Amino acid sequence: MNFYDLIVVGGGPAGSSTAYYASQKGLKVLVLEKKKVPRFKLCAGCISKRISSYLPPGWEKLVLNRISSGVLGYAGGESFEVPAEEDIAYIIDRSEFDAFLLEKAQGAGAHLLQECEFLHLDKEGERYRISTSKGTFYADYVVGADGFYSKVATSLGYRKNKFFKALEFFADGELSHKVLIDIGIVKRGYAWIFPKGNKVSIGVACNGSYNLAKVLKDYAEKRGFKNITRVYGWYIPYAESSRDVFYGKERILLTGDAGNLTDPLLGEGIYYAVWSGKVAVDAIISSPSNPTKNYKILLKDLVSELVYAGKIARLGYRFQKVAYKMAKKGALKTYYRLLTGNMSYKELFAKGLLDFLKELAYNYVWR
Ligand SMILES: Cc1cc2nc3c(=O)[nH]c(=O)nc-3n(C[C@H](O)[C@H](O)[C@H](O)COP(=O)(O)OP(=O)(O)OC[C@H]3O[C@@H](n4cnc5c(N)ncnc54)[C@H](O)[C@@H]3O)c2cc1C
Repeated sequence: MNFYDLIVVGGGPAGSSTAYYASQKGLKVLVLEKKKVPRFKLCAGCISKRISSYLPPGWEKLVLNRISSGVLGYAGGESFEVPAEEDIAYIIDRSEFDAFLLEKAQGAGAHLLQECEFLHLDKEGERYRISTSKGTFYADYVVGADGFYSKVATSLGYRKNKFFKALEFFADGELSHKVLIDIGIVKRGYAWIFPKGNKVSIGVACNGSYNLAKVLKDYAEKRGFKNITRVYGWYIPYAESSRDVFYGKERILLTGDAGNLTDPLLGEGIYYAVWSGKVAVDAIISSPSNPTKNYKILLKDLVSELVYAGKIARLGYRFQKVAYKMAKKGALKTYYRLLTGNMSYKELFAKGLLDFLKELAYNYVWR
């Protein structure tokens, strides 16, 4: 039987979250994943604590490091550490984490077809005909969760134009419970050193035209990592206004990176991927004849987060030294409230704007 209520293209966090919630609601779901699971996904694997309520039970066993402290650096030189009173984030391994989420979706009833590449879709009567490397399938609804190079999104005419380029490599090192982020390295973006079990991941993400391999090498050397092994690269799309979001069309919705639903400040995408998967299902269930219109409405809170993260990013990256000083004076600690789900980006922006302008005036006008 090749007929489904919903076909989800892509088995990353966005796709498995969509499949998990849709199956729980009683929909007959097929997930198409072009790779063999578990598959490698380039990622620092840092999930903020606020994601917890969207994840299926049992995910905690995948946590490699519990993060309870942050270090902010400037240009690979000076830095300061701000400990938190509780865990603010967790480090997971993406191949294990994504396989776990897919397993949970299957446990809820979804069918998974691995090593099956989505090729294109056509409308056939009231249904969608989905052509793949493993044959043809039919569905009433399609969710494109196929990441940065989403073929579902391109089939709807979308073209990405806002994204970070990111390079990352893995090395021996100990950080255990803290993450290090360095600003002042590139115009818009940052470098990081995060723990990964008893190793570390070191990377840089930016949206300018740089020789990023050199930026990463120089940064890593400044922070004491001389032997750079294999460097991996990928992209992080982002939205900083509702116009940047690829919602979808008719009964085809886009979630996660396929829809550009990633934070424009730090490039955090896993949280928004699983959140958008749940919202896509809510949109289909509550408005079966026009889910895209409903998706736009239901996604408002999520998009508002990205819009305000974008406002902070534009100011913070334009005046990075000022942002660094503000973070030292208390803004980093306030940011922890966002990571734990006790504050929104809108509140963070409203709370910090006046202080930021004062700091800016102090640094640029009164000095
Ligand atoms: C270097 C780097 C570091 C990052 N670090 C973090 C971090 O620490 N924390 C964080 O929250 N985010 C991070 N991100 C962003 C995060 O990785 C993404 O936002 C997240 O993976 C989005 O999930 P997704 O399910 O939308 O897409 P993906 O995880 O990309 O999943 C898409 C899936 O679709 C499959 N697929 C693609 N095309 C097809 C096709 N035609 N047919 C069938 N299947 C297909 C792919 O194989 C893949 O499994 C990072 C990104 C990069 C590049």
